[in-house]
Amino acid sequence: MSQPHATFVGMRIRQSNLKTFGDCARQMYYSDVLGLEGQKNGSLTVLGSVWHFAMEVYESYGRNLPLAETTFNYYWDNPEGLGLHIDFYHQRTTHEGLRKRGLAMLEQYHNLMPWKTGQHVGSEIHFIVPVGSHELEGTIDKLWARGGKNATLEVVDFKTAAKVPEKLQYNLQFTAYAYATTTKEFWVNVPGFEDGHERFGTYKRQGWWWHARNAKKYNAGYRTEKDYKRLLLAIDSMAECIEKDVYPLTIEGSACAYCPYEESVCGTEVTL
Ligand code: SF4
Repeated sequence: MSQPHATFVGMRIRQSNLKTFGDCARQMYYSDVLGLEGQKNGSLTVLGSVWHFAMEVYESYGRNLPLAETTFNYYWDNPEGLGLHIDFYHQRTTHEGLRKRGLAMLEQYHNLMPWKTGQHVGSEIHFIVPVGSHELEGTIDKLWARGGKNATLEVVDFKTAAKVPEKLQYNLQFTAYAYATTTKEFWVNVPGFEDGHERFGTYKRQGWWWHARNAKKYNAGYRTEKDYKRLLLAIDSMAECIEKDVYPLTIEGSACAYCPYEESVCGTEVTL
């Protein structure tokens, strides 16, 4: 587990909260400030978590598909082994139907081998790094290095949801991941690459979204200093809102359809 850095004086911002805050700050208020349970642990959320764990096993044991499949099957039937449980099944989903989906997503990834040339740097890399006067915490699903003329460090985010991203070029999640890899503190937690800060110092940073259901890669683009400035501004703004206890709800509304507090707390009924 990563440790806070010595000069930390501000707020610890989790990368997942940055996303929730961007989608709807009110949702973060219900979950993190009030600690409301909401209608959590839907079958699709648990499927995503179990699938991520099976992928970590797959990558860590030399692209071992049978082992990943066994892992998936075991934890899909025993999610409490990963600290999870299914409270409800989403419409048009069944336990066995989702098992097939999870196994198919593993098999498709294995057959396509979407990242071939280059080097696997790590999977499920947890980090806590300094950002301005704050700390940023998160986990990178997969980190891949491609050497040569256009040397690039690629951050891969695995997604199991049905939704296909529209604009990823300015997506702050990827900016947060890319930024983390530019700090010295990040590399302390990457076995075999403790010298990564120097080794990959000149490499460009790029993000990829792997859409597991469609078995397709989406390019999230490169990240540079100007993107990191925007990240810092976002984190500063978020920290200020938290300090002042200000959590506005989403105006646009599309996040409501996926929100665990939609009916129970907010009283809205947004359908997809
Ligand atoms: S239902 Fe909509 S407005 Fe209410 S907390 Fe959830 S996302 Fe925000």
